[in-house]
Amino acid sequence: MKIWLDGGLQDIESARVSVLDHGLTVGDGIFETVKAVHGRPFALTRHLDRLTRSARGLGLPDPDLDEVRRACAAVLEANPMPLGRLRLTYTGGHGPLGSDRGDRGPTLVVALGGTTRRPDSTAVVTAPWTRNERGALTGLKTTSYAENVLALARARERGASEALFGNTVGQLCEGTGSNVFVVLDGELHTPPLASGCLAGITRALVVEWTGAEETDLPLDVLERAEEVFLTSTLRDVQAVHRVDGRELPGTPGPVTAKAMRIFDERSGADLDP
Ligand code: PLP
Repeated sequence: MKIWLDGGLQDIESARVSVLDHGLTVGDGIFETVKAVHGRPFALTRHLDRLTRSARGLGLPDPDLDEVRRACAAVLEANPMPLGRLRLTYTGGHGPLGSDRGDRGPTLVVALGGTTRRPDSTAVVTAPWTRNERGALTGLKTTSYAENVLALARARERGASEALFGNTVGQLCEGTGSNVFVVLDGELHTPPLASGCLAGITRALVVEWTGAEETDLPLDVLERAEEVFLTSTLRDVQAVHRVDGRELPGTPGPVTAKAMRIFDERSGADLDP
């Protein structure tokens, strides 16, 4: 397996990043996960826009997007696979112990892992913690993911594949690695970005392609929604058949099934929508 590091391809076994890299010591980094179908990245331009926004939000220098594109192409060419996930990691780089960044500049790593098509439906639980909709990192795709890792582990213990967060004012927000949509009175809604959720790329495409409304929703909407689905790079559009203890019979319901169909058709037709 070849990855991109320090401006070129390296063997994953021998590639080395400093043990004082701020991505490791203080979680000072950002990332993107990009789906790749037969070696072609999906929605890469949107991912690179978000990478730049996250960098600016964290005060990191703008990533060199020409290099990132070259890195993605090189890693995909070196590791052919039918369905993969590119992982772009961009950190504050090697620095002194402590919070100050060093002057060696950021670290860029591009790696590739295999993935499989998601199951058509899944179970979710509500997370035992809240998302802060007004924090410094809100809306940025940073490598400070420990809270998501913990919430996901709790969800798995409860037989679910995702945990959904409410925010500090009791509104529905997002999952540990996905955005959420609900159907109420036959209409499709998703929480607005002001809820504190990540500006998911799959979410944005589904909003554009289905006309879903961005609506403030109380967390307990999950107790009465007619349909619920998740969106993310790795899940695409995935129906939810159970929320906590509540089964949603007939999953996928008609609105979810339509969103799945539209997403599959349109995303298959254009790999950089
Ligand atoms: N929310 C969080 C916290 C995420 O980590 C992700 C993706 O990893 C998403 C939402 C979904 O975003 P996307 O559709 O861009 O994958």
